[in-house]
Amino acid sequence: MDKQERIVEHDAGARAVRRCEELGCDPYSDMRGGLYRPYLGTAHKAAAEALRGWMQGAGMSVRTDAAGTMIGRYEGSSANAPALMIGSHIDSVWNGGFYDGALGVMLGVECVAAFARRGLRLPFALEVVAFGDEEGSRFPLSMLGSRAMAGKAVGDVGQMRDRNGTTLQEAMQGVGLDVGRMGEARRRREDILAYLEAHIEQGPVLEHEDAPLAAVSAIAGIQRFYIRVQGQAGHAGTVPLHMRHDALTAACEMVLGIETLARAHTADFVATVGKIDVHPGAVNVIPGSASLSVEIRSADAACLERAFLQVQDLVQGIAERRSVGWEVRDHQTFAPAPCDGRLVDLLRCGIRAEGMADHVLVSGAGHDAMMMTDWVPTAMLFLRSPGGISHHPDESVIVADVQAAFDVMVNFITHLPEVLDISATQGTVA
Ligand SMILES: [Zn+2]
Repeated sequence: MDKQERIVEHDAGARAVRRCEELGCDPYSDMRGGLYRPYLGTAHKAAAEALRGWMQGAGMSVRTDAAGTMIGRYEGSSANAPALMIGSHIDSVWNGGFYDGALGVMLGVECVAAFARRGLRLPFALEVVAFGDEEGSRFPLSMLGSRAMAGKAVGDVGQMRDRNGTTLQEAMQGVGLDVGRMGEARRRREDILAYLEAHIEQGPVLEHEDAPLAAVSAIAGIQRFYIRVQGQAGHAGTVPLHMRHDALTAACEMVLGIETLARAHTADFVATVGKIDVHPGAVNVIPGSASLSVEIRSADAACLERAFLQVQDLVQGIAERRSVGWEVRDHQTFAPAPCDGRLVDLLRCGIRAEGMADHVLVSGAGHDAMMMTDWVPTAMLFLRSPGGISHHPDESVIVADVQAAFDVMVNFITHLPEVLDISATQGTVA
């Protein structure tokens, strides 16, 4: 396209917001008085159909892949050119907000519409992808659509059940899909140029910084584990304090110690004890054992590793002093997912072009982009979340922020060939 021409679409942001709101109620929600759009449910199907219309209206050909992801495609200047995928998810949590996921999809549609309306063809194709399962709000596995697309193992998931006892296999059959063929959703690496996801921040940082947008440098990795503290249960009236081995008081000291430890790390490092189980759990019994869930997140894998060891040292010290036993159980690790540095810079450039400060954030929450970072160059754009509120009906966005996000995305698309070598993956000429 002519680089001198700047795409101006004043109502793109407002339209994207309106469409998210349109999808916020019946028939696009499976609950009354709020939004719940689980994977492969009636509401998901209805929302996908509405989206199909909007994608077609924006000049895309539309198909659904073997994992139920809707893909709209706008061809580049040559047929079968590799695609810049712009995507996010259209499922929601129970009683969720209108913009989590859906906004990124609607912004993708707006971007394509802006190029199509001008008859502009790029040296790559544009695809808008709407994943059906990111939240894992129906079946006990999240990001199924992006996992399948990126060719990651999804395991033997056909017999997973939702809360009504319906298996994934049955749910897929209900919409004409076959769980046994989900692997066919896998895309060839050479057909994908890059992945871009716009998403609400879902936290308070941008609002605090008075900033509408940020480029995401990485999606934080996670270490998740349980600490079991073994003390000695006893009569709450007869055992003197100095003779007790109270599992809960030891656990409390550990919780506070973990918080102190986390504060000593970098700003993007967070640690949370979200759950404590105490046994036997009676008003007149000294707690005999306690189990703590610990979750630490950071974009730095080495930092996560180190913190895991630090937590164990801390726990050991407290346990020895209080003469209680301890062990770590069910340790799970999810590696940090770094975005592509060139694309992060390109987003920052676009944000500055809007006259805004180019903030860079680590995403503490997981996103579909996580499945993409080790597969294709990936970028994520965050939009300010008023009040930091998300996964809640009060979730909101500011229309001017969404408009700015649209402008940054168009800028990103326009200048992408300057930072990625697209000649190596050029498709065949039509
Ligand atoms: Zn989301």
